Amino acid sequence: MKALVYEEYAPDDNFARILKIKELPDPTPKPNEVVFKVKFAGLNYDDIWAMRGRPIQIPMPHISGTDAAGEVIAVGNDVTTVKVGDRVVSHGNLSCRVCPACTDGREYDCRYRKIWGFQTGPLWGGFCEYVHLPEVNVVKIPENVSYEEAAAASMVLVTSWHMLVGRARIRPGQIVLIMGGTSGIGTFGIQIAKLYGCDVIATASPSKLDQCLKLGADFAVDHRKEDWHKEVFAITKNLAKEKGTNAGVDVIFEHIGGSHWNKELTLLKYGATLVTTGATIGYEVQTDLRHIFFKGVNVLGSTQGTRSELVDGLYWMSKGKIKSIIDSVYTFENAVEAHTKMLKGESVGKILLKPN
Ligand SMILES: [Zn+2]
Repeated sequence: MKALVYEEYAPDDNFARILKIKELPDPTPKPNEVVFKVKFAGLNYDDIWAMRGRPIQIPMPHISGTDAAGEVIAVGNDVTTVKVGDRVVSHGNLSCRVCPACTDGREYDCRYRKIWGFQTGPLWGGFCEYVHLPEVNVVKIPENVSYEEAAAASMVLVTSWHMLVGRARIRPGQIVLIMGGTSGIGTFGIQIAKLYGCDVIATASPSKLDQCLKLGADFAVDHRKEDWHKEVFAITKNLAKEKGTNAGVDVIFEHIGGSHWNKELTLLKYGATLVTTGATIGYEVQTDLRHIFFKGVNVLGSTQGTRSELVDGLYWMSKGKIKSIIDSVYTFENAVEAHTKMLKGESVGKILLKPN
């Protein structure tokens, strides 16, 4: 089979130097595994970290790719829920399934957890023609959801669903602030909060504000402005007047960090929740603790999510309530261009690869 392989790091982001298309043996399933023919696979930022060899060194030779969708061509003897011909998408969270966290329903807290295609290998990821995964790490793609849409959804969909539904436990009528509304997780964050009947304020850079509104956000605010948070607060003040409640935000969906962090804290209502899953512009933030203890707010961390949350998200995609945003599709031959586009932050939505 054809696979996108590299055998050395590119700390200078010169992906063209390391990325090669190679011919490898086709995989056969272990008893608990399924093998599927990849139709589309989605890029994630950890593909770039892997090629850089920072912040962690990954197994070599390496195949990246955490989100792959395709048609099942073989199943192991112990597989009971998936059959040849099924359309499936990967759930890239490889957890042990036996530790206390896993058996408590918190597979994302498994200390043995690995992200497939990032921490796995050698030569085990989604950017190839055929992949093998444990039965528990694939999910059937429901009707009305294409391979492209499923590959563009998997990791970002489960991450966003877990943040808002699993961790923050959003409820109808709440005011939800989605930071970075046009990022992969932001696009789903907006749609999930609307699905739950929330009032949604999204932030983005000026050229992407319309995109937030198209996704269903009720308001969009330019977060490059110094006083963006004051604009958000003014919106909540008007909403509060209508609802007869207090101004402020009930839930903040955060993955940016940096100088935005403390401004976000000022927006939280008493007893409100901030849920964070990343720090794209800076890990080290300034925190005025008074905003946390005095207002009794919850600051929650979140990483990925559960298989069943992915199933829930895909169900609502099949009902047309949530959709993937696909920026572009590249062949393996043009994979360098695809990764460079992601690196430059030029895409809106997901960039996909296809083997053929
Ligand atoms: Zn475990």
